[in-house]
Amino acid sequence: MKSALPQRVVVVGAGAVGLSCAWFLQEHGADVTVLDRSGVGAGASWGNAGYVIPAMAAPLPEPAMLRAGVRGLLTPGSPLAVSPRVSAATLAFLAGFTRNSTGARWRRGMSALAPLGHGTIRAFDDLIAGGVTADVREETLRIGFTAGESTAGLEHELNAARDLGQQGGYRTTAGHEAPFSHHVKQIVHVEGQRFLAPGPFLDALADSVRKRGGEIVDGAQVRSVGFGPGGLQVDTWGGAPHRADAVVLATGTWLPELARPLGVRVPVQSGHGYSCTVAVEEPVTSAVYLPGVRVAMTPYGGRLRVTGIMEIAPPDQPFDHRRLDTVLRSIHPLIDGADWDDVRDPWIGARPLTPDGLPLIGRTKLDGVHVAGGHGMYGMTYAPVTGKLLAEQIMTGTGRRELTPFDPLRSAQVVSRKFVR
Ligand SMILES: Cc1cc2nc3c(=O)[nH]c(=O)nc-3n(C[C@H](O)[C@H](O)[C@H](O)COP(=O)(O)OP(=O)(O)OC[C@H]3O[C@@H](n4cnc5c(N)ncnc54)[C@H](O)[C@@H]3O)c2cc1C
Repeated sequence: MKSALPQRVVVVGAGAVGLSCAWFLQEHGADVTVLDRSGVGAGASWGNAGYVIPAMAAPLPEPAMLRAGVRGLLTPGSPLAVSPRVSAATLAFLAGFTRNSTGARWRRGMSALAPLGHGTIRAFDDLIAGGVTADVREETLRIGFTAGESTAGLEHELNAARDLGQQGGYRTTAGHEAPFSHHVKQIVHVEGQRFLAPGPFLDALADSVRKRGGEIVDGAQVRSVGFGPGGLQVDTWGGAPHRADAVVLATGTWLPELARPLGVRVPVQSGHGYSCTVAVEEPVTSAVYLPGVRVAMTPYGGRLRVTGIMEIAPPDQPFDHRRLDTVLRSIHPLIDGADWDDVRDPWIGARPLTPDGLPLIGRTKLDGVHVAGGHGMYGMTYAPVTGKLLAEQIMTGTGRRELTPFDPLRSAQVVSRKFVR
């Protein structure tokens, strides 16, 4: 007889979010199969900056971001850009993003995200205590400002996060500090944040899922999810169907391909970013961020990983060296001790952006099928806590209140007032 609660769960997508869901589903005793059309970390989860920063993981739409986006449209070589290949879905995203870019909606979004932020570090600790052999370091994030740049916007954001109970005290200092050059005049130090090397973290998470009896199938491109004989059926291109009691769609920026037919109407837009690593004379010991040029850097295997650019474009946007050059040129005068001729590991990845800046976590219209994604700039930060809460919701059948604002079936044109606490 079929049990009321699921036993066999298929997760589609082996990025940070899908693997976290798989791992926490196993905590509840589920028998898990992860399907990915390429392999572990084939999407945005591989080459990102690896910041785990609940104190700063705010909704993207807000007035200053909107102004910067408009300026970016008018400035060639800007870190924010919109591709000329604009689809109807992109226009819907931009219209919704504009509507959500008000101070009041940003604050509502912050309130909605606060409970996720509270659980973030604990969820990482759960993974590590449960055998995921990843190096998730606690460090201070240092944020550099040049003369003429103001720290006020950042301090406003950090104070708002602190008022909502997020960990992350900060202090501001003046004067020179490596690796910043003499152009950087003020540094905001945000304490108690965490950083990881995304590739090794994903490998460790995938290893742990396998060791606990899960299967990860590479090269399995899912084309649809529906009902079949005896339960849910996940169909792949060219492979046998997979049967399941529950399914989690965690396909990053490609989420609409499978989720839209299941009632998820919120547009998910690709915000492409670039990264590479550069050689450094002296090891850099903490993560550093340059908000003026929107470039995030993290120590990576004795080198420095450099990430930047937000290009609104279709998911299949090809790698463009000129964009990476823009990133490197923008930080050249601001970082000392890097060898700009020794650049490796060029990478492009797409942040899954939603118009209200909130993720999509929960049920679809098809009974037993759930989505987990749309975390935008902060999918590494929020992946484990997403997996933990969604797994509990699926495996106990009891809704988690923290997930209510992230209902995938919401309209997403505005953040609903009912979530303001
Ligand atoms: C430059 C850059 C820097 C970033 N820095 C940070 C940071 O410092 N901190 C932070 O928190 N976040 C950061 N992010 C955001 C973060 O990388 C993303 O939010 C996160 O990786 C999204 O994870 P995901 O698992 O939802 O999607 P993905 O990692 O994109 O995974 C989706 C997976 O689904 C698979 N897939 C898609 N369609 C199908 C299908 N039909 N069938 C089977 N498989 C399919 C893909 O192959 C892919 O492996 C950054 C992003 C970028 C681009």
